[in-house]
Amino acid sequence: MLKGSCLCGAVTYEFDGEIDHIVCCHCSICRKYSGTAFATGSRIERSKFRLLTGTESLKEYQSSPGVHRVSCANCTSPLFTRRDATPDTLILRLGSLDTKLSAKPAAHIFVGDKAEWFDICDGMPQYETAP
Ligand SMILES: [Zn+2]
Ligand SMILES: [Zn+2]
Repeated sequence: MLKGSCLCGAVTYEFDGEIDHIVCCHCSICRKYSGTAFATGSRIERSKFRLLTGTESLKEYQSSPGVHRVSCANCTSPLFTRRDATPDTLILRLGSLDTKLSAKPAAHIFVGDKAEWFDICDGMPQYETAP
């Protein structure tokens, strides 16, 4: 069982599933939304994700048609993204995890939009857009 929370602690969740195929997304939306070079996330099964507290504190921002980025309204921590086209999954923002994770990222995606000031210095596969 993995647990996670936002920065202020209002929103807490647990996830009873596998975290795999972690990607670092360098797209311009993830850069803007996170305020840094890339966002690290993993697609998870929605049925195994449970909000424990703070449902009333969630705020959604539709960054593209049908793509809803969900954060804490109080501290603004990005928590997950849900897509209308794939209602059975969520993209979990792994920085919100409190439980240690043994899995490692598998790829850099949307490196065509990468910040020019950030150099990727690992050997992971890089994709211009989505693989
Ligand atoms: Zn918060
Ligand atoms: Zn992205």
